[in-house]
Amino acid sequence: MPMKLYVGDIVQTRKAHPCGGNQWEIMRVGMDFRIRCTTCGHQVWIPRVKLEKSIKKVLVSNAPEEVQQKENP
Ligand SMILES: [Zn+2]
Repeated sequence: MPMKLYVGDIVQTRKAHPCGGNQWEIMRVGMDFRIRCTTCGHQVWIPRVKLEKSIKKVLVSNAPEEVQQKENP
C-alpha cells in the first residue's frame, strides 16, 4: 500500500538526523521528496522509495487539495 504523503506533513524517521532530530516536514513531493529537519532546518532531497522506507510514523498529515492530480498518469 503506497504511503500517502503530502506537502506540509510532519513525519518521524527511524534514523535520526546528526543534529538529533527525527522529525521532518515535507516541502515537495514527486519522484523525489524535499524534506526539512524540523530541529535544525536542514533540507535534503530524498527519493520517495527511500523516504517511505525510512518513515517510522506520520505525525501530522496535511489535508490535501492535490489528491486528484496524484492519480493522473
Ligand atoms: Zn537536523
